[in-house]
Amino acid sequence: EPRLETERFGRNYHFHTSLPSSNITAKELARQGALEGTVVLTEEQTAGRGRLGRGWYSPPGLGIYMSLIMRPRIPLGQTPQVTLLASVAVCKALEAVTAVRPQIKWPNDILVNGKKLCGILTELNAEMEAVNYLVVGIGINLNQQPADFPGDVANVATSAAIAGGEPVDRIRFLTTLLSFFEADYDHWLQNGFGQLREEWLARAAGMGTTVRIIAGKQEWLGQAEGIDTDGALLVRNEDGELQRLISGEVSLRPE
Ligand code: ATP
Repeated sequence: EPRLETERFGRNYHFHTSLPSSNITAKELARQGALEGTVVLTEEQTAGRGRLGRGWYSPPGLGIYMSLIMRPRIPLGQTPQVTLLASVAVCKALEAVTAVRPQIKWPNDILVNGKKLCGILTELNAEMEAVNYLVVGIGINLNQQPADFPGDVANVATSAAIAGGEPVDRIRFLTTLLSFFEADYDHWLQNGFGQLREEWLARAAGMGTTVRIIAGKQEWLGQAEGIDTDGALLVRNEDGELQRLISGEVSLRPE
């Protein structure tokens, strides 16, 4: 039997058989004062969301759809690092529990063989230049088979069972993920972004390749070169200038 081995993450949890979106429920709990580490878990989402208003397909029983409440005392400029932290924790859990060898697509997707296995949606609530709470939503495809994805998603999605060749024990995966996430979070709070940056870069997809940057109506091509000590993506544009991208409204496409 897998056991929860964390001190805070997942010690308070709210389980639902169905929710519109675990992030919406977690934000409501956070507004009511829920403690750091509180987890909202749902068997399905009927209106799961990705970034920029996109949908996240969340069929019952096959994936993990969870949101974690965090209350780090950090400058607002460091909050994008939380998505990178969550990405690394998801990768470590996949590496520990499955045969899947994942890659991270900046800022918020986990890919296997170029297809999306997990999406992360971090939402910030700040008051007077200080973090009030962060809600980190994590949707992971674990036991879907190809036929479980609707047509438009099937082209871009994969699951741990598809990529790893065998089904995954969801509880074991979840307890492992929470352990890595809590340990990495504590390390980050105490020591900063340095080691996490190395762990992120070791799994990064698309570094050294040409990517299309999409920021609202603007689009341009550049060479992805890495992330800086704050977690901003470094892209060299066609004039040879290095640009820093913050995750907010920016999307990347391979070219
Ligand atoms: P970006 O590159 O900006 O992150 P994105 O298209 O990857 O853009 P996300 O918010 O990360 O956007 O994820 C939403 C997209 O992921 C949807 O538009 C859909 O194409 C795809 N998608 C939806 N549900 C799933 C799922 N369960 N597994 C994999 N991919 C999904």
